[in-house]
Amino acid sequence: MQRVAVLSAILLGGVAVTGALAQGLPPIADAEQVSENVWRIPGNGGNSVVFVRSDDVVLVDTKLPNSGESILAEIRKITDKPVTTLINTHSHPDHVGSNAFFAENDGVQVVAQANTAARMREGGGPFPPNRVDLEFSNYRQLGEGADRVDLYYFGAGHTDGDAFVAFPEDRVLMAGDIYAWHMSPLIDPSSGGSILATPTTLTAAYYGIDDIDTVIQGHGGTSTWEEFGSFMTFNRGLVQVAEETAQMGGTPADALARLEAIPSFAIFMGDELLPGLEYGGTPRGRAYINLMVAFEELRGEEPELRMGIDPAEIPARTQ
Ligand SMILES: [Zn+2]
Repeated sequence: MQRVAVLSAILLGGVAVTGALAQGLPPIADAEQVSENVWRIPGNGGNSVVFVRSDDVVLVDTKLPNSGESILAEIRKITDKPVTTLINTHSHPDHVGSNAFFAENDGVQVVAQANTAARMREGGGPFPPNRVDLEFSNYRQLGEGADRVDLYYFGAGHTDGDAFVAFPEDRVLMAGDIYAWHMSPLIDPSSGGSILATPTTLTAAYYGIDDIDTVIQGHGGTSTWEEFGSFMTFNRGLVQVAEETAQMGGTPADALARLEAIPSFAIFMGDELLPGLEYGGTPRGRAYINLMVAFEELRGEEPELRMGIDPAEIPARTQ
């Protein structure tokens, strides 16, 4: 039953953290071309990614429920080829919500990492179970040559089933929600997510996936490989500072002060809401949340899901 509550919180929380239900999520916007054959469709949940192949289309993630027609309309502006493959980066309803719209068509194969596949088949609360036809554990290649897609799993982070989806010919990587808003990731402990595991997972991805120029975030825009590397370094630093501060008997607030004293981390510690992504909160708020999560994980507790934080609860800057 806890999973049901959490899934509902993910859905409603994404809206609620804006502080105004009426504000809601940004609607689906025009597809943006990322590379020769890859497009990103923003809005109404996580990014969807469209990969146009020789004879067909691979779609990654399907946003919140009732987005299918809008996603397909964006795809039809790009190509008439059929969607034959649907890949989900993880099981959250803002990424699998409109799977059924595509999966009900003949011959569509739904692909997910094994842990994510188990959660998708289970469903929960208001969210129906979703079919998965092909699952992978750590690595899987789909297609050949220019049509090739590489699927990777390196361990827990946002959930325990975060897939990285690479399009090697286009040198593009869809990172899913372990990398969203270019800030420390939202951790969903009840889906197996872990901030302590996140640096190891990101490091394995950074050194284990070659020849990528552009990284698509789960929510937000695109980044360079160098920016993804700096994001990995920041999360390594966040967990290291949390561990050192906890060992010294300090608090998450103490750790926050130490973290923001590191100049190269400034971009991940901003106080501004990101335009169009206000529902994600501020980078500094997310860093503080994840320091609290890290302390709880270090104590062996299961952290609560924190979609956002009241700005009044974030400690003031010390410098
Ligand atoms: Zn998610």
